[in-house]
Amino acid sequence: MNDFVYRDGVLYCEELKVSDIAAKVGTPFYLYSKNTFTSHLQHVEAAFGDLAHIVCYSVKANSNVAILSMMAREGAGADVVSGGELYRALKAGMDPQKIVFAGLGKTEQEIEYGLSEGILMFNVESSQELMLVNDVAQRLGTQASIALRVNPDIDAKTHPYIATGLKQSKFGIPLSQAMAEYEVAQKLPGLNPTGVHQHIGSQILEPGPFEASLRKVTNLAKSLKVLGLDIRYINIGGGFGIQYTDEDAPEPEQFAAGIVPILKETGCTAIMEVGRMIAGNAGILVTKVLLNKQGEDKRFVVVDAAMNDLIRPSLYQANHHIGPVVYREGAAEVKVDVVGPICESGDFLAQDRAIPEVQSGELLAVFTAGAYGFTMSSNYNSRTRLPEVLVSGRRAFVIRRRETYEDLVRGEAIPKDL
Ligand SMILES: *Cc1c(COP(=O)(O)O)cnc(C)c1O
Repeated sequence: MNDFVYRDGVLYCEELKVSDIAAKVGTPFYLYSKNTFTSHLQHVEAAFGDLAHIVCYSVKANSNVAILSMMAREGAGADVVSGGELYRALKAGMDPQKIVFAGLGKTEQEIEYGLSEGILMFNVESSQELMLVNDVAQRLGTQASIALRVNPDIDAKTHPYIATGLKQSKFGIPLSQAMAEYEVAQKLPGLNPTGVHQHIGSQILEPGPFEASLRKVTNLAKSLKVLGLDIRYINIGGGFGIQYTDEDAPEPEQFAAGIVPILKETGCTAIMEVGRMIAGNAGILVTKVLLNKQGEDKRFVVVDAAMNDLIRPSLYQANHHIGPVVYREGAAEVKVDVVGPICESGDFLAQDRAIPEVQSGELLAVFTAGAYGFTMSSNYNSRTRLPEVLVSGRRAFVIRRRETYEDLVRGEAIPKDL
């Protein structure tokens, strides 16, 4: 379900024509639907309704403070992976007791920040980090609630760059070492081990890997309880896959069907760190066609958005559906590469893609760009980062303005004596 729909060949976001918004804010820009965001969250909440659970929205998917504030008001917490993301989550009004902090290289400063704000827990990824969290907590005269992120050695069957649960991966602590690490943690005065964490990858399109992995993880949790540890949370991570083009993406209920029974018998509260499933189809990237260019054996549609705005096609070979914002009658399908103006051959939004022929000035929508779109964007080629617009019904709000040239050099300095 999402709120980007065509009516008589014209693309709408909720009740507004995308072309009208483009006329106001210029192109390119990111466009989000409030209703899609909140209904995706409610859908996940409902699917796991039988289970005591907290949805920790994964901030790195889309971290605009307006989005985070909307998630907070809907009752979600946050999964953060840096001090900057923690700052955003708190600024947006997230309840610290619903914030979990992951990442395999947290700095002392970040740990201190999390502790002083009273977050729910840190997901710890190595024995050295365990010591560090303990040291910082003791120095502050407090105790850190922690989960160990275990690496269950499970193939999530996704792109290698977004698979994180294989033993070759840099993430987590091998399951075989987890018991010993928990025993260490239990004895450290600055630590309170309250959970077990896993995150096996992203854009996972079948429930199987979750079930296989959670069987291992819940067995660990049970053994830890026998040892006398007070394990109250099992964090299943994120990774629920979505439809970009023609994938068969399971509904939240289909993921939940296998997962809920496995978790239920542990008596623990489940934490899920959902990013893409909430944000992905809640956003599009709107771009304008600059020109058509016929190469020796390829036709190129050059648009005003580029890999710095949406890097997923270049980085992950991701396929995003691309369609006109307004279908033009009689436009024949042509096979093209949709490319940006950046000085890199890797700068494309789609390759060998059949789309209706488009002329200079026409608008294209790159769908499913709400997650890992703006958050992965950069200023490469000194391009200003895009505005973000959020639609609710008939109203549109600019939730981030377009950057200016002054923004590009903000913080830079030419030394006097140079
Ligand atoms: C990125 C990430 C997530 C979110 O993954 P999605 O596939 O977007 O749901 C959750 N947990 C951790 C630890 C992550 O790194």
